[in-house]
Formats: sequence, C-alpha cells, structure tokens
Amino acid sequence: MHHNGVLLEIRHVSQVFYSGSKRFEAIHDVNLAVREGEFTALLGPSGCGKSTLLRIITGLQSPTEGQVFYRGVPQQGVNPHATIVFQTFALFPWLTVLENVEVALEARVVPKKLRTARALDLLDRVGLDGFENAYPRELSGGMRQKVGFARAMAVEPELLCLDEPFSALDVLSAEGLRGELLELWTGNKIPTRAILMVTHNIEEAVLMADRIVVMDRNPGRVVFDLDVDLPHPRSQRDRQFMELVDRVYAILTGQTESEEVELGSAPGEPGRTRALPSISITDLAGLLEKLNEAPQNSTDIYRLSQDLKVDSNHLLQLIEAGELLGFATVAQGDISLTPLGETFAEASILARKEIFATRLRRLPLFKWLMTMLRAADKQRLELDVIQTALELEFPVEEARRQAETVVSWGRYAELLSYDDDSGMISLEPEQVETMRVSL
Ligand code: ADP
Ligand code: MG
Repeated sequence: MHHNGVLLEIRHVSQVFYSGSKRFEAIHDVNLAVREGEFTALLGPSGCGKSTLLRIITGLQSPTEGQVFYRGVPQQGVNPHATIVFQTFALFPWLTVLENVEVALEARVVPKKLRTARALDLLDRVGLDGFENAYPRELSGGMRQKVGFARAMAVEPELLCLDEPFSALDVLSAEGLRGELLELWTGNKIPTRAILMVTHNIEEAVLMADRIVVMDRNPGRVVFDLDVDLPHPRSQRDRQFMELVDRVYAILTGQTESEEVELGSAPGEPGRTRALPSISITDLAGLLEKLNEAPQNSTDIYRLSQDLKVDSNHLLQLIEAGELLGFATVAQGDISLTPLGETFAEASILARKEIFATRLRRLPLFKWLMTMLRAADKQRLELDVIQTALELEFPVEEARRQAETVVSWGRYAELLSYDDDSGMISLEPEQVETMRVSL
C-alpha cells in the first residue's frame, strides 16, 4: 500500500487534561502529515503541546479526540516503528555503554552474536569507539546522550522522534552530536525514514530540518508550516540561511516592521545607531516571567509598574528591551509576550542564554562589537576603546552606558568576557574561530 509517501498522519487530534474539575485543552485539532524522507522540526513556546504531540504520535498516549495513522493504518497503542529520544536520556547505571545499547536490541529479539556487533557499530558511528566498557557515571553529559542516540538507533526506527535532544548539552557536545546525526541521516546510513525533532533553537531547526512546523499555545495548535529548501551541508553564514532564520524569528516574534527599521544600523554606517536600553537581563527576565503569569500573557503597562515596583523610566526601558529582542509586543497600553518571549520565560538558564545569544547576534551594535574584537590583537579590546568609538554616535555619557550595556549583555550570553581589573573585553574562545557554528 502506498500513501504518497506519507509515513505518519494525525487527523483532528485534540488532547484534554483534567485536574480535579478543571478541564484544560493542551492540543486543539492538530492535523499533521510526515512524509518519508522528511526531517521535520517542531518549534513553539513551552507548554504548547510539543511533547504531548510526540507522545501521541508514538502511541505512548492516546489522544482525547482524533486519529493517528501509520502508513495509512489507524494506530492503537505503542507504535513499534517509532522511537523517542528525550532531552536527557535515561541509561541503566549498572550496565556498560555496550550493554545499554544491547538491551534495546534484546527487546527486538536480535540474536546475541549479532547484537554485540551491531551495538559496537552504532557506538562507533556516534563517536564512542573505545568507550564500550565504560559505565554511564564515567561519561560526560554529551557522551551519555550519544549512548542514548545509539540506543534509539539500535532499534532502527522508521520514525525517529527527538524531544529537545541537544538542549541539555554543552555547546561543543551539541554541535558534535548534531553533525553526527545529520551525517547519518543525509548519508542514508540509518534505515530511519523520517525524523521529527522538537527544539527551541531556531538556528538548529534551519540547520537540520527540511520543514519547520511552528506551534502556539492556549490552546496548542499548529500556526505555521514552512519548507526549508536548502541543500546540505548548510552554512550559517549563507545568505539564504540567515534569511530563513529571520523569517522564522519574525513568525515567532510577531514582528511586522522589517528588521532594518527595527534594529537601526551599526556604528560607523549610514543611518542611526539604535541605542540599547540600559537594563540588566536579570531584570528583563523578571518582567517576562511576570507577563508569563498574567492571563493571556498580556497585561496593562500601568498595572505592571505597580506590580514590579520599578520606576516607570526603568520599566519603559525594560519594555523597550523586550520589544527590541522580540520577546514582547506593545499595543494600546498593553504589553504581551510573543511566543519567543514565552519560550524564554519558561526555559532553563542555559536555554535562556542560548535564546538570548541568538537574538543579541542580530543587533547591529553587537555585531559591530564582535567584528571589532575579532579583528583585534588576541581578540581583546579595552572597554575605553569601545566607548571612544561609540562617542562618534552618542554623547559621552550615553556612549559609556552603551558600551557597558552591550558588554554586559554579551557576558550574559557567554559570547564574551570582561575583566574588571584590566578593563579588557575578550571573545569567549569558541567565538574566535568565527562561528563556523553560531548555535
Ligand atoms: P511542551 O512540550 O510544548 O512544552 P507539553 O506537551 O509538555 O508542552 O504540555 C502541554 C500542556 O499540557 C502544558 O500546559 C502541560 O502542563 C500540560 N500537560 C502535559 N501533560 C499533562 C498531564 N499528563 N496532565 C495534565 N496536564 C498535562
Ligand atoms: Mg516539552
């Protein structure tokens, strides 16, 4: 039976949860078809039902309404052709790396001799050659996640579902593992026919996926479906890559004006350099958290100034920063979180830094600073030098504030560091070799 290459399809799926007498619709009438050969990324703010959807798709949970079809056949119960990798993959601590992969094969009734050979091969492919006999506690987080991948791949799923698989990893491990997965996938080295990956990282989605599905919440639903028509390997410095990333950001931030108009130009270039509101990211996070607690994630600005107990000037600066970074929108005296702002408000500290970093990199003033640092001897510059350069754009006092703000935001994003004693700004090591990967 052929269904136009559609591997999985969900039709009119809704999920309602009850707690006590309260009824909560987590997912409302979602329709989605995943075709063979397709790598789909699923984006959306925390709580919009992404994990719930993956559980429904793999049959770990049956939806309140609607149906799941696999190769055209209505599904009931766990789908044996699908596997999920979670953000943190649980390994059996008392088994070695090799045994952890072998157990997955045991469940598949693969003969013992074949099991070992296949497990070794998979460990080799994810770059764990030589660690077969180690125990999970002896491995780094990134290596454990690799074992998780090897285990998921051992069962050779036709449909591989990944739930934020890289977000618990440090930058380098995440980068490595993304590369391994892409190579296995694009090189047809695994029998997997389709991948569905939940992520909060837009660059990651554009780097890896053929298609990006965006969800929003209240209730959880699909709001956008976008093809990523770029050949592999993709480069983040490619113009088309950046344009797509911008488009997805615009979808998630509900941005209407073009980015050039919103963000201004870089120092030294024609046009006006937009001053950054001088606020700390901790305060901004406080504002976003507050909004996230408000009904509909939206509130009256006047009420907010009373609730947050900040003076109105400071509040206005916080709001401006929220808008500039695409975390909030303002209309008629009300401020509302964008889906990206919601994601930030509910993300872990590491994930927040990551989201913030991707936003910061788009600001002309910050780009300018990074270019200056890359060109500098040892990739270091004095804060005073930056301030002086900014005095061509801003009055002296303002130039000082701008220099301090851009540096403190860069520190928060862990893209650069600042030494109080020497007054030197420097690039974080992984930023030096320019951002072959800027994830
Ligand atoms: P996401 O993965 O997009 O962050 P989830 O699918 O985990 O979102 O959750 C969607 C919504 O459903 C959230 O509001 C969550 O609190 C709620 N939810 C998820 N699972 C359950 C459950 N078993 N019982 C009650 N509410 C749930
Ligand atoms: Mg989730």
